[in-house]
Amino acid sequence: MDLSLTFEQQMLVDAARKMVRTHIQPILDAHSPDDALPKSAVLAIMEKAAELGLTSARIPEEGGGAGLSALDYGLMAEQIPPAVGLILQPHEATTTRIYLGGTPEQRERFVPDLMAGRKIAATASSEPNVGSDPRGVETRAHVDGNDIVLNGRKLWISNASVCDVMNVTCRMTAPDGSSRLARILVEPADSPFEATELHMLGLCQSPHGEVVFENCRVPKRNFCPDTGDTAKLLTLTWLTNRPLVGLMAVGLAQRALDLAVEYAKVRKQFGRPIGSFQLIQNDLAEIQTAVVTSRLVCYNALAAIDRGERANGLSAMAKRYAVDACDRAVALAMRVHGAMGLSVELGLDRIARDIRMLHIPDGTPGILTLIQGRELTGLDPFRG
Ligand SMILES: Cc1cc2nc3c(=O)[nH]c(=O)nc-3n(C[C@H](O)[C@H](O)[C@H](O)COP(=O)(O)OP(=O)(O)OC[C@H]3O[C@@H](n4cnc5c(N)ncnc54)[C@H](O)[C@@H]3O)c2cc1C
Repeated sequence: MDLSLTFEQQMLVDAARKMVRTHIQPILDAHSPDDALPKSAVLAIMEKAAELGLTSARIPEEGGGAGLSALDYGLMAEQIPPAVGLILQPHEATTTRIYLGGTPEQRERFVPDLMAGRKIAATASSEPNVGSDPRGVETRAHVDGNDIVLNGRKLWISNASVCDVMNVTCRMTAPDGSSRLARILVEPADSPFEATELHMLGLCQSPHGEVVFENCRVPKRNFCPDTGDTAKLLTLTWLTNRPLVGLMAVGLAQRALDLAVEYAKVRKQFGRPIGSFQLIQNDLAEIQTAVVTSRLVCYNALAAIDRGERANGLSAMAKRYAVDACDRAVALAMRVHGAMGLSVELGLDRIARDIRMLHIPDGTPGILTLIQGRELTGLDPFRG
């Protein structure tokens, strides 16, 4: 077993780092760190990400995508600032869902522009009363002539205010009153809806919004009949998303570690660099241990997905462990800095706020623990 990167993998990592340095960071720096990026900036990011295959990572080459392995995708995602990661990943996952679960006509109409980064995608499942249990969605849809009429509210939706197509989970009501879960592709240009930006603790440049559908009319051709291979769709999106979010946390904790090591070498107290005190060395060792173990547990889950193994438990474990360990590591890095760790000029405060945000999307720690427990015992903790 060789845990080192191959030459090709190192090239992918270097390319992602270069893209961030030369194209993405300047876009982030040109905008307020406290406000969601405007659509023009998101499109500029998409265009560059598309060149590296990050807008089509999970779509196979024969479908025009990058066809990256899950591990290679993760290696690149780790290099991307999470405020951008939470723009790109929902976009790419939605594009993959349309590719795998849409009709041939929907694929042709939506996927090329989304893969090229000319258009932006979002997925809307969560609602004011619906989070961890998406089967309970209350957004209603019914057919009226050639249209589907949507009514309801969605909450915390990444890319809501900037998207060109939103993959909306809703409950479709039949004339006899029966209902079933359905997915509908809503294009705001043709089917306007209200999207309001939400201000959250961290990842402030990443757009997250509330959406209101009030008699929103969508052409029937945008209804997704779920003809795709649903199991494959879930494997490719949910399972891979979790370690990818874990690796976003690793990227943040690595930055905190680098800052803490530098500071410990130059900051002097009692006539000595604080890095020479054993308690500070212990903190640094703990931070590094969290970064390395988190990285490995995420790579391990992604590699299992690539081997085609059942990875539900490993993937849940990877995200839960990595975000939790890296969050604690960032807190330790702040402690190493004393009061400086709390100052806004250093930027550790922003890392601490950003990493807190990663606990929730793609499964809360509680839900991920239960998924692991279900895998270990074979017993369903959710519905008995
Ligand atoms: C940065 C960010 C981006 C997001 N992007 C999107 C997006 O693009 N699209 C989208 O649809 N949603 C998105 N979400 C919403 C996210 O999917 C939900 O927040 C998540 O599913 C949890 O739902 P909730 O917040 O309503 O918490 P709840 O489900 O209400 O959970 C509250 C608490 O109860 C616990 N809990 C729930 N059920 C159980 C149980 N059975 N046993 C034990 N404990 C339980 C949870 O672990 C949690 O601690 C995003 C959220 C964030 C923070």
